[in-house]
Amino acid sequence: MGPPGAGKGTQGELLANRLGIPRYSTGDILRQALRDRTPMGLEAKRNMHAGELVHDEVILGIIGEVLAHEESEAGFLLDGFPRTVAQAVGLRKLLLERGLRLDAIVDLSVPDDEIMRRLSTRGRKDDLQETIRRRLEVYEAKKKPLLDWYENSGVRVMSVQGVGDIDHIQADILEQLAL
Ligand code: AMP
Repeated sequence: MGPPGAGKGTQGELLANRLGIPRYSTGDILRQALRDRTPMGLEAKRNMHAGELVHDEVILGIIGEVLAHEESEAGFLLDGFPRTVAQAVGLRKLLLERGLRLDAIVDLSVPDDEIMRRLSTRGRKDDLQETIRRRLEVYEAKKKPLLDWYENSGVRVMSVQGVGDIDHIQADILEQLAL
């Protein structure tokens, strides 16, 4: 978990490579669907460009598919998902059906002004100032209920500062995961 621009993709990729497990980013999957002009991509487009979330059912459909991959059996890393309590509830059901469980949640935190600075130089379509602000607002609104839900359900939530050297941040994550 983490706000847009927190480094979820960068840190997630490093961690997944190290663990030898696949990383599934709902944002990447949606952007690819949009490039391929699939019905799902086209449906998600307006919300993505406005900085709003894509419907929970669409997202849970994506996750249902990726968890059915054989390569997910030895573990996987989810990047940018779940983002709402409804998604967390849906994920719990999918995991239970497959006899899997979440080991931990990594909550990457980065101050808003640093996020604005990072994203205004990144240049993706949903990185316009106004959209960034909206994405941050949406993130902030959903974050607490989601973290509370996970704390109540006994999943370990690790808080990591996402500012500074990329390798140091990764080392922090590994240390907290005790890997
Ligand atoms: P990201 O690259 O994770 O910031 O995702 C880019 C955009 O895709 C988000 O601003 C949302 O519009 C959409 N998106 C990605 N993941 C989710 C999710 N778990 N729930 C809802 N919308 C999502």
